[in-house]
Amino acid sequence: MLYNRKRSENEKVILAKISEYGPMTKYDLAERISISIPTVTTNVNKLLKEGILQEVGVAEADYGRKPMLIDIDYNRYFSIGIDIQKHSIYYCLMNLKFDAVMEKTIKNTGASLENSIKIIVQSVLASCKLRKENIIGIGLSYPGLVEEEQLLLKKGPNIGETNLSLENLRDELGVNIYVGNEARLAAFAENVIGVSKEYMNSLYLSIKEGIGAGIIVDKRYYTGSSEAAGEIGHMVVQKGGKPCNCGNRGCVEPYLSTQTLIETFSTTVSKEISTLDEVFSLYDPGSNEHKQIMREYVEYLVLALNNIFLIFDPDCVIIGGEMSEYQVQIEPLVREVMGDVHCSMLKRDRRVEFSALGYKASKYGAALRAFEEITALV
Ligand SMILES: [Zn+2]
Repeated sequence: MLYNRKRSENEKVILAKISEYGPMTKYDLAERISISIPTVTTNVNKLLKEGILQEVGVAEADYGRKPMLIDIDYNRYFSIGIDIQKHSIYYCLMNLKFDAVMEKTIKNTGASLENSIKIIVQSVLASCKLRKENIIGIGLSYPGLVEEEQLLLKKGPNIGETNLSLENLRDELGVNIYVGNEARLAAFAENVIGVSKEYMNSLYLSIKEGIGAGIIVDKRYYTGSSEAAGEIGHMVVQKGGKPCNCGNRGCVEPYLSTQTLIETFSTTVSKEISTLDEVFSLYDPGSNEHKQIMREYVEYLVLALNNIFLIFDPDCVIIGGEMSEYQVQIEPLVREVMGDVHCSMLKRDRRVEFSALGYKASKYGAALRAFEEITALV
């Protein structure tokens, strides 16, 4: 079975240049890339045949035949980005302009993940009237450890699916599959189409039930030697502190998890609440008790942020995950507490941004990851 083939370096550069500068002729391309016109012609012809490039008119010329203008057919190929979470599965269909042309959320019933992916692919193809050949790849975001090359979803403390290889599913579907860690893919999406676009080095702190981070170094995401980089949620900040899902005690996660904030609030207001929405709608800034809970939570957040700045010295840290949806409520307190922390080794200008893509970042990152391998447009 032939998956969407990997394109040659010349093809990738041609696609990247057209994406950057818009429609152009083969002569413009040859000049911009500094390769010969016959080489450009061979590669452009291959891409025209494939349909990823199209002729969109003629350019002005002083004499002779007017040369064809070539552009990317942005709606010929797509990728599917899927973000697996404990309770929900978020997915999207993305075109080559990186627009999500279709988005949906379904319940994660805990049924076989492979089956869920098959159903999603079928439903996307049917509802968007596409054929499998139009799909460049499927990117899958997983809340835990992965092995990208082996398409292995290894271990996620907050999710049931572990040690699942998607190689068989890829063979069955006949479409390329890419897997990645959720925070890493979110960091990648923010860096390509989101809030950290302008920065070379950034870090995305994902605050959900679990805490993780995606690290972008020189515009590429950093996986570490064994693809375990960014497990910031399990840095110990309190010796012998609260127990954590990983088996250790005093990790960042049991202090920063959204679940912790929800439970603490629930106890304080003596009311069963289960979402952050409820926390922030009940939060009364006039109540000292409420303020104290929020401040303690934010103090752990700032502690994590400062550690990140000290280790990585990034251009910015992005607060992402579910918590990023509550920027209005939480940002003033974050700035206040940051101002209260004094350490001469900390950069004066600690740039903290809130995610631009919100809870959609991981599925977008998954979709972009599929494009990255194939087109070099990302
Ligand atoms: Zn832990």
